[in-house]
Amino acid sequence: MVEIDATPIGLNARSTPSTYTGAFDAVRAHFAAASGRSAGHFSFNTKDGQCPTCKGLGSIDLDVQYLPDINVQCPTCQGARFNDDTLSVRVDDRTIAEVLDLTVREALELYAEVPAIARPLRPIVDVGLGYLRLGEPTPSLSGGESQRLRIAARLRSSQRDVLYVLDEPSTGLHPVDIRTLVGVFDRLLDDGATIVVIDHDLDVLACADHVIDMGPTGGPDGGRIVARGTPAEVAADPHSVTGPYLARSGSTGPAALA
Ligand SMILES: [Zn+2]
Repeated sequence: MVEIDATPIGLNARSTPSTYTGAFDAVRAHFAAASGRSAGHFSFNTKDGQCPTCKGLGSIDLDVQYLPDINVQCPTCQGARFNDDTLSVRVDDRTIAEVLDLTVREALELYAEVPAIARPLRPIVDVGLGYLRLGEPTPSLSGGESQRLRIAARLRSSQRDVLYVLDEPSTGLHPVDIRTLVGVFDRLLDDGATIVVIDHDLDVLACADHVIDMGPTGGPDGGRIVARGTPAEVAADPHSVTGPYLARSGSTGPAALA
């Protein structure tokens, strides 16, 4: 069972979409092969690669007396995270820091012919996160983005016998992004997964095979099953609080999203 929640991914700025999905390992291997250096030279987590001032974080805490610590851009590397020696290497006319500054979509275009890099990047675009930068700290992602990045990291493995439980994945998403999310669900289902979603979004409900409406309200007056069935059945059920909204929105089947 895979629980996909909205808690932040990674606790420090060293976790990025590219490290989380394994894409950065492939980028470092690509740089190592092209330059004749070790992959460690292209990591901001090793002495060989990181900026000596900020230790690869790109920023430092300024200790100002009587004031809370202030986090500022590292004066040595200007936020690039790497040391001068590593930044002197250019592969495909880019430094490793410039690659981390690319969006996932841009990187996928650049490395379309390098399968080891393109393979982990494509699912990130598929879940609608192509705008993230490879080096963006994952703790700064929104809850919805964290959920989708977790799904992206799972998309490459076999989905047979996998049960996903998602807690309000639509929270904070634009309607267009909800469509993308539902597309990702379809892909997981096609690959054999089972998906349980807790949500209030009518477009998400409309795409379910089976809806269990809990209520009748929240808190101590909730927790009972008031209606269940296909979206169309729940929409027509007089006991369902959600039903009338589902019926009114016309969202009673996947076609409503098309
Ligand atoms: Zn630095």
